[in-house]
Amino acid sequence: MSTQPLTLQELREYRLQLQTTADRVAAKVAELEAEALGTTDGPVRDPDHQPAHDADLATRTSEDRTAVAILGTERAMLGEIAAALARTEAGTFGRCERCGRGITRARLDAVPYARLCIRCANEPE
Ligand SMILES: [Zn+2]
Repeated sequence: MSTQPLTLQELREYRLQLQTTADRVAAKVAELEAEALGTTDGPVRDPDHQPAHDADLATRTSEDRTAVAILGTERAMLGEIAAALARTEAGTFGRCERCGRGITRARLDAVPYARLCIRCANEPE
């Protein structure tokens, strides 16, 4: 089964899709960063301030950890999208970085920033 090269029209559509996703993820990252700055260990100015309950504190800490984990994932995705956009400029978008074969449209539709074809992606490193 061979994959036909992407047409210019298809390439444009994937670019648009990547840019839309990048904008959405960037907004999400900014939101998470603002949240993290607002809740993580800033100086406590009020000397009488006491954490209300240990349980609340524990909940907050685990929420912060989740936010940081999500932030890492979203940042990584932004990087992948930026790399994919660079590939559309370089003319290598839609080609597997390992074996050089075309990545199927079904895969690109699901993961437009995929670097590898489904075969290579399923192979161990
Ligand atoms: Zn491949």
